[in-house]
Amino acid sequence: MSDSTKNSKPKSDRAYEKKRRNCLMCSSEFVSSWPGERVCQSCKSTSAWREGIAA
Ligand SMILES: [Zn+2]
Repeated sequence: MSDSTKNSKPKSDRAYEKKRRNCLMCSSEFVSSWPGERVCQSCKSTSAWREGIAA
């Protein structure tokens, strides 16, 4: 078992470059501040988002 490739940390420690993407819920463009962010802030604040639609 060689862990030589796993010893170096993945790039997750790096600061995530903010990217523009389209919101999954309203399709409007927004800037995601982390890789898993797929919906805009306004949609996140809606109850629909909390229901788990984007799961
Ligand atoms: Zn949205």
